[in-house]
Amino acid sequence: MPTLSTVIRPRVWIGCLACYNGGRLTGEWYDADIAGLVTPADLHGRETSHEELWVFDHEGFCGALEGECSPHEAAEIAEALADLSEDEAGAFAAWVEVFGGQSDRGNWVEKFRDDYRGFHDSEADFAHEWFEETSGEEETARLTVWPFNEIDWERASHELFTGGFHAEDAPGGIYVFCAC
Ligand SMILES: [Zn+2]
Repeated sequence: MPTLSTVIRPRVWIGCLACYNGGRLTGEWYDADIAGLVTPADLHGRETSHEELWVFDHEGFCGALEGECSPHEAAEIAEALADLSEDEAGAFAAWVEVFGGQSDRGNWVEKFRDDYRGFHDSEADFAHEWFEETSGEEETARLTVWPFNEIDWERASHELFTGGFHAEDAPGGIYVFCAC
């Protein structure tokens, strides 16, 4: 059962670089989508000569951001993630790890949706479903008849998963991607 979708809300800890270099931590957590709007005066609570802000820590980016970056960059990534739902987050993070390097960050969510073939209990389970989806009624009906009802889907799935489909471990099953 899919759970009710909520939107991903990445957050960033924005700090003052000059303070940091001077051995002090001056910073605050913000929603990442407004990271580009935060000013040095916001962080210090008063006007300051310190100019450069930096994202030192972050959460909720589903693997789309690693390490540190500028607030503007964080806001850009947050914008790219804006229509990703929480249901998709786990699969998206798995996708980023494997396929993220192959396309621009700005296209990640779109590309992920092209590739994603859903959550499944196992590779065998996916193979069975895939066969039903890609076959005609007649062929599918035959699955109830011997010897087709004895198909070893576990074995059949090996061909699929060496021929373009990709499985990543997920809690209680696998995420399937098609990099075709
Ligand atoms: Zn400062």
